[in-house]
Amino acid sequence: MTNSEIIDILELTAKLMELHEADSFKIKTYSSAAFNLDRLADRNIADMSPADLTRIPGIGKSVAAKIQEMLETGKLRELEELMDKTPQGILAMFKVKGIGAKKIAVIWRELGIDNLRDLELACQSGQIAKLKGFGESTQQKILDSLVFLKVQAGKIRMDVADALARALRDELVRHFDKVEITGEVRRKTEIVETVRLLVGADSPVAVQQKLNGLDFLTQDVKLSSPFVWRGKAMDVEVRVEIVIVPEERFANGLVLETGAEAHLAQPIAGGGTLLQLALAEPVTTEEELYQKAGLPYIVPEMREGLGEWAWALENTTDDLVTWDHLKGILHNHSTYSDGQNTLEQMALFCRELGFEYLGMADHSQSATYASGLRPDQVERQHEEIDRLNTRFAQENPWRPFKILKGIESDILGDGSLDYTDDILATFDYVVASVHSNLTMTQDKATARLIRAIENPYTTILGHPTGRLLLSREGYPIDYKAVIDACAERGVVIEINASPWRLDLDWRWVRYCMEKGVMLSINPDAHVREGYYDMHYGVAVGRKAGLTRQMTYNALTLAEIEEYLKKRNSR
Ligand SMILES: [Zn+2]
Ligand SMILES: [Zn+2]
Repeated sequence: MTNSEIIDILELTAKLMELHEADSFKIKTYSSAAFNLDRLADRNIADMSPADLTRIPGIGKSVAAKIQEMLETGKLRELEELMDKTPQGILAMFKVKGIGAKKIAVIWRELGIDNLRDLELACQSGQIAKLKGFGESTQQKILDSLVFLKVQAGKIRMDVADALARALRDELVRHFDKVEITGEVRRKTEIVETVRLLVGADSPVAVQQKLNGLDFLTQDVKLSSPFVWRGKAMDVEVRVEIVIVPEERFANGLVLETGAEAHLAQPIAGGGTLLQLALAEPVTTEEELYQKAGLPYIVPEMREGLGEWAWALENTTDDLVTWDHLKGILHNHSTYSDGQNTLEQMALFCRELGFEYLGMADHSQSATYASGLRPDQVERQHEEIDRLNTRFAQENPWRPFKILKGIESDILGDGSLDYTDDILATFDYVVASVHSNLTMTQDKATARLIRAIENPYTTILGHPTGRLLLSREGYPIDYKAVIDACAERGVVIEINASPWRLDLDWRWVRYCMEKGVMLSINPDAHVREGYYDMHYGVAVGRKAGLTRQMTYNALTLAEIEEYLKKRNSR
């Protein structure tokens, strides 16, 4: 059992106890245990003895015994009992923002509501607002959240979709010669509604039979047709479509199944559209089809019909940023704040992967929930960085590697940064990010960001909207105003590469490039392996047409040091 599985079970148990009005002291025992275990960082709960466990603050003998029970049996009897008394629909209500277990209990008890549909109706009729302790604003919050939940149903994040699509492809290539991932996954969209694959085979009937013989696939017979298998895979809540084309039309199929409608509607030389051409004569490669159409080749990720043709007039595929272009990794956390690996471990792994620099950017002092660094801790970290840098230079004089002193400074409510100027001046660079007071009007949020951008110590604007895909919308901002301010002040904008964020949204990257604003593909790594998230950042960057030239962390160590020296001496 992983730490997070154990913590989830404890949290859910606490919530359900609250719902069923258990003793408040008991509830607190569970919720504070979950909270404290969550702060353990790199220690593995499963490896700890009961005695070790009770040494953690907030963990008494009784909770330690419950953890032991989970580790031995894989479940918690107490939770099972609570689940038995709880309707399925109530569990779904826990996803609604603005109401916790206590309020859900009131709704359930007073109005007998135990599902999302009835909850929505009760909001619309004004019943919820009338409940004691609720009011109009809570009712509105519930309604907003219900809309959000509906919109995201059946959708999954890019990383989840990618893993599913690859697993399907790996399975299907064992049975068919030509198999490829297409659709949104191949276009690298940040959220996926349909996982789509293409199979080239001359007998669609045989393919359908084979597919239905695979036990991880469940067909939706009504939605399927002789050439398209539709259904679900491995119980993931997303639609799966497997399109079957004759082998000699496989390349045509790739173009047809990958491009968005707007892309395929592109007029071609000699009349007609790309779509019509792809439906006509067979080609052997995708490139051949674009060539026949008299169009420049467009990489799969860009086939959205959102300005890729105009982009191709000024750029070529070779200009697009790749993982190999990246020379350093900025915006990372260590055990100094809420990361799981030490500064040294983060640096060694970064060097091992072949990068030239690691930018540390632990949390700043106001971020107490993430153990943000007090000024004395900043000083201590800088001393350690100096020591490590000296060592790295000695170990490898012919191949430079360096840690850059950075910080992820909170942008406070009024837009100021989180340290005094004399401390800010000690960093090589500053990532400025919003982490608190996330509910703001667009005007307020924009003004707050612009004030931070105007701060001379800001080097990079971190995750500009604070969104968490499929779980938090992020505050609204005036993108143009924010990007224009960055252009004016020479501030770089982050593409936060965590598949949860992918923020700045790729749709705004081209506007940044037009304005001369560089983008930094930052993993926001809280553990060494988090560096790999930059693959998602590269994917959405390429989707937007981001070039190596405009990618900040494609600068070499020498170039970035030169850049920072100039910037910091202004
Ligand atoms: Zn952050
Ligand atoms: Zn961060």
